[in-house]
Amino acid sequence: MKTRYIFITGGVCSSLGKGVTVAALGCLLENRGYRVALQKMDPYINVDPGTMSPFQHGEVYVTDDGAETDLDLGYYERFTTNTTLTRQNSVSTGQIYYSVIQRERRGDYLGRTVQVIPHITNEIKNRISVLTRDEELDFVCVEIGGTVGDIEGVPFLEAIRQMRREHGPSGVCFIHLTLVPTISVAGEAKTKPTQHSVKELLTFGIQPDVLVCRVSRPLSKDMKEKLSLFCNVPETNIISARDIQSGIYEIPEMYRSEALDEVVLKHFGLAAGKLDFRRWSSILKTINNPKKTVRIAVCGKYIALQDAYRSVYEALLHGGIANQVRVDFLRIDPESLEELSDEAVARHFRDVQGILVPGGFGSRGIEGKLRSIHFARTHKIPFFGICLGMQCAIIEFARNVLGLESANSTEFDPSTENPVVSLLEEQQGLKQMGGTMRLGGYPCVIKENTLAHKEYKKRRIRERHRHRFEFTLRFKEQFEKEGMVFSGLSPDGQLVEISELKGHPWFLGCQFHPEFQSKPVDAHPLFAGFIQAAAKLVRQQSA
Ligand code: GLN
Repeated sequence: MKTRYIFITGGVCSSLGKGVTVAALGCLLENRGYRVALQKMDPYINVDPGTMSPFQHGEVYVTDDGAETDLDLGYYERFTTNTTLTRQNSVSTGQIYYSVIQRERRGDYLGRTVQVIPHITNEIKNRISVLTRDEELDFVCVEIGGTVGDIEGVPFLEAIRQMRREHGPSGVCFIHLTLVPTISVAGEAKTKPTQHSVKELLTFGIQPDVLVCRVSRPLSKDMKEKLSLFCNVPETNIISARDIQSGIYEIPEMYRSEALDEVVLKHFGLAAGKLDFRRWSSILKTINNPKKTVRIAVCGKYIALQDAYRSVYEALLHGGIANQVRVDFLRIDPESLEELSDEAVARHFRDVQGILVPGGFGSRGIEGKLRSIHFARTHKIPFFGICLGMQCAIIEFARNVLGLESANSTEFDPSTENPVVSLLEEQQGLKQMGGTMRLGGYPCVIKENTLAHKEYKKRRIRERHRHRFEFTLRFKEQFEKEGMVFSGLSPDGQLVEISELKGHPWFLGCQFHPEFQSKPVDAHPLFAGFIQAAAKLVRQQSA
């Protein structure tokens, strides 16, 4: 079968859940036996979000091949099982222009004027079709970032218009995601913004085949008729995307009940086939019938922004699904702990069964993170430190157990006497310091008879990284003598990947980001283990 293209554009406003819609459609098509690739086109000029503040952009999602990408790619991976994402699945205007300009400098355009059409649009089309080169795919689903009408989105719309012209309706399906708001005083749902949005799309030569409308209540027959008439989309292809109650993992089921996948397959003249949805139905059952509730404190400096630690929250929920418990979050800004007395810190964590310190950069809030780790260590509360969280656990241990008072990471104090966390170049005494980021998947060897081994149940793992600093190896013996176990190392033994504590119910730090590989139907073993340990602290809830 030839590869078909599904393009998803957004209208009316942002934050309608385009990324999750693409992920959920991918999930449904995959569970009907089709092979799917998911791709995001970001209209911003940054080459990738690696340099953007989490306040601007939310989390940076890292793929196995080390690309720093948009957090929507996290949804793509969590909702599907067979799609592996690489740097090719995340494209930005910055990347497109960068390669066209490099080619121009090399003289590849042979003296021609380089223009948006055809050079930029051809580059966009190449980035889409390159996905089909090595793999036998039934569908490539492409999310066009931004909202129709944004100036920077225009070349992308032009490129996908051309693709429809080249492949015809049997090769391309346009889905437009819009909002049908309800005016609360009138109690009435309004189709006008959607009509305008489709009109805007038409000015670029794109007639949507399917309309997915975000609504608070399902669209009535009248509303569908009206939208159909004004937007020129058959009524059967107008889908209500209603607000859901129990979280995003209900969305594939919501789209299944609205037959979004069947509508798309019908557009291509393809058989719907049999949908195997057992795993997804069973996780929904678990989410809706938890045995207990576990409260996890997440202590990080971007706590005010929901999306800054998106994959961490999702992975904690997956750990909850694996243990049939509900996970509640207590979001703690570490700076708020810094001036508190020990009793006041204890009061903060009174109803908490686990403490997690996520990754991060820079010195703000570090002292507060150290206090939360100290509390978890000394009160035997399950603790999970990720990347910077592990580095903080190392610093806390060095200061309070090894008595190395000024112990620090050279990231926060370059002249510390006890640099227990430092750059590899510093450890090797090199003068020239690039401080390049270690990015993407690397292997790690796990020591037997450790907590890490109990959770992973295997000796060799592969996890994704995004950091510059490392545990300083010359302190290793000193730490081990006092009960810290380095249970995961790089295959050459030079980099500490996992550290844990003897005599504590569950205290583990990892230099990598396990949250990027967790899925609702297949929780990451460290998150499953952490939540299991936390759940042991909760009394069985009465029904
Ligand atoms: N800032 C630390 C480093 O660069 C940790 C990075 C992270 O947590 N992602 O090593």
